[in-house]
Amino acid sequence: MKKISILVPAYNEEEVLEALYQRLGKLANDNKSYDFEFLFVNDGSRDKTLEIIQDYAEKDQRIAYVNLSRNFGKEIAMIAGLDHVTGDATVIIDADLQDPPELIPQMIKFWEDGYDDVYAKRNSRAGETWLKKITAKTYYWLLQKTTRITLQPNTGDFRLLDRRCVEALKQIRESQRYTKGMFSWIGYKKKEVTYDRDPRLAGDIKQNYSILIDLAIDGLTSFTTAPLRLSSLLGGVVSVAAFVYIIYLVARTIIFGIDLAGYPSTMAVILFLGGVQLLSLGIIGEYIGRIFNETKQRPLYFVEEYHHGKIDKKTR
Ligand code: UDP
Ligand code: MG
Repeated sequence: MKKISILVPAYNEEEVLEALYQRLGKLANDNKSYDFEFLFVNDGSRDKTLEIIQDYAEKDQRIAYVNLSRNFGKEIAMIAGLDHVTGDATVIIDADLQDPPELIPQMIKFWEDGYDDVYAKRNSRAGETWLKKITAKTYYWLLQKTTRITLQPNTGDFRLLDRRCVEALKQIRESQRYTKGMFSWIGYKKKEVTYDRDPRLAGDIKQNYSILIDLAIDGLTSFTTAPLRLSSLLGGVVSVAAFVYIIYLVARTIIFGIDLAGYPSTMAVILFLGGVQLLSLGIIGEYIGRIFNETKQRPLYFVEEYHHGKIDKKTR
C-alpha cells in the first residue's frame, strides 16, 4: 500500500489541533486504499500544542511528531518535517485549517496520474487584509520579473510532493530559506488544483508582518541578483549624468567665468548621490549578510524528540 505523509508545521496551535485531527482522520477513513502518516512538527510552541500531539500519538499509530528544540519559524519547520517524513508522497498543510484537507484526494489522484508536485492555488483569500493581498501581489510580480524560474502566483506551501521532490528539497540546506521558490526551482512535473482559502479557524496569525518582510527579502536575495544589477545600473547612469554635467560646468566656467550661485542644486545632487550610495550599500549588505550566514554552515535545526508511529521498512 502506498503511504501518504501529511506534514503539519505547528506553532502555538492548541486551539485548532482537535478540529484538524478530526478532518485528517476523516480523510484517512475515506481513503482506505492508502496508508497515512500525520507528521506534526512542533516548532517550539509555548502552549499545549506538544502535549496534545503526544496525547494523540499515544492512541493513534498514524501520528508521528518532531519536537524542535525551540521556535525556528515555518520555513525551517517544513524542512525539519521533510527530513522526517516516510511516505511515498507528502502533503504540506497548515495547522490552522486555512488549507482544506478535503482537497487532498484530488491531489493524490493527480499524483497517481504521474505528477510530482500538485500545488494548490488560491482562488480567494478570505480573512486576509487588503494590505496583505496588495503587498503579496506586488511582491510576486516583482519576484517573477527578476527571476528566471517560474513562480506560481497565489500559491502557498499547501501541496503534494512526490518522494523525489522531497529528496530534492532535502538537499537544499540554505539556512535563510524561501521554500516557495525552491518548489519551483527543483522543477519536476507540476499540476495545479484550485481552492478557496478559508480564514484561520482559531487563534492568532503566527507569521506577523516583520516575519513576512524578512521572508520577502530572503526570497529576493536567494533567487535573484537583480537588485545588485540594479544598483550597478543606477551607479552607471548617475555617473554618466554627473560626467556630462561636469563637462558642462567646466565649459561654462571657462566661457562665462566663475559664478558662485547654485547652492540648492549642489545640495540636491549631494543628497541624491548620498541616497543612491546608501541604497546600493544596503543592497550589497543584504547579499553579504546571506554569504555570512551561509558560510557558518550551521545545522538548520535541532530535534528535541522524534516520535514515529509504525514505520514499514520499505520506506525507511
Ligand atoms: N508556523 C510555524 N512556526 C512559526 C510560525 C508559524 O510552524 O514560527 C506554522 C503555523 O503553526 C501554521 C503555519 O505555519 O501551521 C502558517 O502560519 P500562519 O497561519 O500564522 O500564517 P499564514 O496563514 O499567514 O501563512
Ligand atoms: Mg494561516
